[in-house]
Amino acid sequence: MTEPILRLSDLCTRFFTKTGQVNAVESLSLEVDAGEVFGIVGESGSGKSVTARSIIRLIESPGRITAGTIEFRDAELAASLAEEYPDAVNGEFVDLVALPESVVRTLRGTSFSMIFQDPESSFNPTLTVGEQIAEAVEVQRRASANPRSVKARTDASAYSLRSYVSGAVLPGRSYVSSESKAEAVELLQQVGIPDPEERVDEYPHEYSGGMLQRAMIAQALAGEPDVLIADEPTTALDVTIQAQVLDLLGELQEETGMTILLITHNLGVIARMCDRVGVMYAGEIVERGTLEDVFDRPAHPYTEGLLGSIPDLDSARGRLQPIAGNVPSLLDHEMDERCYFADRCPKAMERCLEKPSEYDVDGTDGHRTRCYLAVESFDQDRALPEEYFERAGAVEQGTTETGSGREEPR
Ligand code: SF4
Repeated sequence: MTEPILRLSDLCTRFFTKTGQVNAVESLSLEVDAGEVFGIVGESGSGKSVTARSIIRLIESPGRITAGTIEFRDAELAASLAEEYPDAVNGEFVDLVALPESVVRTLRGTSFSMIFQDPESSFNPTLTVGEQIAEAVEVQRRASANPRSVKARTDASAYSLRSYVSGAVLPGRSYVSSESKAEAVELLQQVGIPDPEERVDEYPHEYSGGMLQRAMIAQALAGEPDVLIADEPTTALDVTIQAQVLDLLGELQEETGMTILLITHNLGVIARMCDRVGVMYAGEIVERGTLEDVFDRPAHPYTEGLLGSIPDLDSARGRLQPIAGNVPSLLDHEMDERCYFADRCPKAMERCLEKPSEYDVDGTDGHRTRCYLAVESFDQDRALPEEYFERAGAVEQGTTETGSGREEPR
């Protein structure tokens, strides 16, 4: 039986802006099993990327995690931290939220790695691609050499500016060792970069977009992470390169057995890559389950809407069915305590004005949804009138194909 390697419980991430508090991630609970590819899908602004960044604690001011836990299973790490940070250790799990930033920093690259959407802005343009990958290799070496020493893991002096400058200017010294550079060449080869011995000394601007995305994957793999978080890894690429990068990720996952958390707005990418999927809307996971659960038996009207908006060349179902309306504001003072999808939902009922919990679908463990339709049938007599949310303006903007308001219940 597979065990979770990541366990998020009631995670809340807020941004404290001049216009008010933005609830980007709202009481999010999720488990990701070791060795699986778990996808998070949703529209722009649904909180997918903030969730990914929260996991590796890369939320910058004015944002912060305000509640919840992010537990990562690593028995050895838990043992090494238990004495100094007892509140952060729960059996084999370590709560990343309860650890100081100095310790979490050492886990980035070694326990977790992240591939970002835009490879060009993720590389330092003044260093060669090889140096940047080799640096990640060295961080992993240091961590492996001292797996039980918190002090050694958190000692940043070896990677200080002073170290970099002396490595760069003193004869016979180098910021990265020749062994790490050799490993960078191997990693570039592993991700399919042609002529890696020459390419390792080139700068990011000398790489094409597809090559740079592969180089970023190589950099992410340098620390042999347990969990790879891929945030829209193919968005900036053309379709052919997208397919190559996804194939590469799939092959690497099979070879290494690492866990992948894949963030995307593209259901096609999810269908191609993932074992399980969570659908995000307005900062919440509104449905989760296996691919078959979610794609073949969607339980939440938002999931149905997403699936209905996918072009299907094999069926003659006519025009695509967009989801009426717009993603709601996530400003705290504008969020009512109701189902956040209610103003766009074709099946909204009076009951939906209270916030739904997460329910099992058909009593199936693992297929869950935040929708009352999992526990009761749609009742037209209790349906909210179309004008309830005064949504005419939003509907006009958001509904270009149907040109109508709420659709008939399907
Ligand atoms: Fe629609 Fe109600 Fe389900 Fe929300 S809880 S998705 S409004 S049926």
